[in-house]
Amino acid sequence: MEIKRTKIVDIFDASLVGTTVRVKGWVKTRRGNKYVQFVALNDGSTIKNIQIVFDLQKFTEEQLKPITTGAAIHVEGQLVESLGKGQSVEIQAETLEIYGTADPETYPLQKKGHTLEFLRDIAHLRPRTNTFGAVLRIRHALAFAIHKYFNERGFFYLNTPLITGSDCEGAGAMFQVTTLNLNDLPKKEDGTVDYEQDFFGKPTSLTVSGQLEGELGATALGQIYTFGPTFRAENSNTPRHLAEFWMIEPEMAFYDITDNMDLAEDFIKHCVSYALENCADDINFLAQMYDKELVNRLKFIVENDFVRLTYTEGVDILMKSGKKFEFPVSWGIDLQSEHERYLVEEHFKKPVILTDYPKEIKAFYMKLNDDGKTVRAMDVLFPMIGEIIGGSQREESYDKLLARIEELHIPMKDMWWYLDTRRFGTVPHSGFGLGFERLVLFVTGMTNIRDVIPFPRTPKRAEF
Ligand code: ATP
Ligand code: MN
Repeated sequence: MEIKRTKIVDIFDASLVGTTVRVKGWVKTRRGNKYVQFVALNDGSTIKNIQIVFDLQKFTEEQLKPITTGAAIHVEGQLVESLGKGQSVEIQAETLEIYGTADPETYPLQKKGHTLEFLRDIAHLRPRTNTFGAVLRIRHALAFAIHKYFNERGFFYLNTPLITGSDCEGAGAMFQVTTLNLNDLPKKEDGTVDYEQDFFGKPTSLTVSGQLEGELGATALGQIYTFGPTFRAENSNTPRHLAEFWMIEPEMAFYDITDNMDLAEDFIKHCVSYALENCADDINFLAQMYDKELVNRLKFIVENDFVRLTYTEGVDILMKSGKKFEFPVSWGIDLQSEHERYLVEEHFKKPVILTDYPKEIKAFYMKLNDDGKTVRAMDVLFPMIGEIIGGSQREESYDKLLARIEELHIPMKDMWWYLDTRRFGTVPHSGFGLGFERLVLFVTGMTNIRDVIPFPRTPKRAEF
């Protein structure tokens, strides 16, 4: 019987020592002398490589010549305990098959130690590097942890639309979706574009958030969450913004803002501790390469309570800090990342949940407090990241919500379906949005959001 392929992640199992195994993967390095050659092979299943030993009495130099960095090979041989340093087991090669060569003259990853900037230019190949292998495996584990968390708590996964007909989701600039010929636009008599001839018969865009539809789900199923791509045409070239990113948006009927904060804190701790338990090799690799404090920081999040305070208290602390900020602080401003990070990293030295923001800087659907000035918003602020979660208790009163919509001149024709949740069986409810890449950024310790998504979309960049 033919032996099955063993994934490298499984090969370090002691019971395999002494048996014949078959591995397939991509060559990391080859070194050695004229008697013996050592190949480090990786198949993406783990950060670890398996060492393969080629005895030159069994193989000719000619046979081994195509084994260069990046080549894909298939090897069969005995798994034996290794005498060398740095690995526990190795394979004594008996057969070799070359699947595909990688010309050292042109293979971009021939050398080690490329900068992350350079790797962004070869995003089609960077998953083969140790760093991106680690990041992508952690990203997968976090996605799984998120579905697991909600499933175990009776939340239903709701798929909200990516194409939306309302331009008032309120979370940022939108990308238009159209099938009209931009070089020959149909016009109405008054000279404006005739959208009746467009695919949907009206202007449409890519969604910036699934929340409004999420509320429709929550006021029927009780507790739902979304987990999907969102799009923001914000021309902000920061290390924390993408034009296309993934967001998790739980929405819960009968939750007030305290329930909402409790869920957000428990949820994010669960995600971080899942990664610590299940991605130790990858996290340790990234810690060693980029950030020695990474593991301590992750543990700290899991083990400590988040500090909760109001926006007003936060602004007070910032104003009394004596610190010179690039953007000066006063009550009413939208906090910048530098302010958020001051509170988290310097003042409290803990994650912070800031609540009760001025209504002017928050979305129309947030519940108005009795002071008439602030709304029941909550942002979760993290070290290194700033805002990782934004959420709120929603305004459940039809009259108050309508008043706010009118105050902000949001076109009613777009909002009737949303207002129906408040006309028929309205309930107190809350929810939040977690930016998935900001979570992956935090857990991996990477510093640029472009390095935690396989194919980043940013201004002027959408090649692969
Ligand atoms: P920021 O002030 O950082 O731009 P925001 O206030 O626009 O964030 P929300 O609209 O509340 O953010 O979105 C919810 C979450 O989505 C944020 O807390 C953040 O984690 C994430 N997020 C928002 N915009 C982006 C983006 N352009 N790229 C990646 N993640 C984002
Ligand atoms: Mn934003």
